[in-house]
Amino acid sequence: MLKKGNILYSMFFGKCPKCHEESMYVEKNSYKLATTLKMNKKCSSCGQRYHIEPGFFDGAMYVSYALGIAFSVAAFVLANLFFTPTVWQTFGIITLTMIVLMPLMARMARSIWINMFVHYDKNAVQKYKESQKNNFR
Ligand SMILES: [Zn+2]
Repeated sequence: MLKKGNILYSMFFGKCPKCHEESMYVEKNSYKLATTLKMNKKCSSCGQRYHIEPGFFDGAMYVSYALGIAFSVAAFVLANLFFTPTVWQTFGIITLTMIVLMPLMARMARSIWINMFVHYDKNAVQKYKESQKNNFR
């Protein structure tokens, strides 16, 4: 199973890429569409900022495109395992898959994108706590 410390754990569950302690998103349920992409400013456990620079998550669009292709191919292959769909049925199946999975793919794209730049550090929480202590001295 995916556990803390595995990069896929952060990618699939939208956890902080640095400490894997908490979700990057304000709302846990990605199907509450008004808040699907609403993110916390930073991780309260390790202090990692999520919007590293202005427009940081624009790059997640490239990842989203790749995910869309991957899920489309998967839907096509799965449909063809069970029956032989016509072109229009294939189009419908892929469109439906894209619509249903859109919130999940949007979040996963952001998670994959930020994980390309921020890497897991098992001591991140401890380091952050120590730096906070030093700030108050
Ligand atoms: Zn964190």
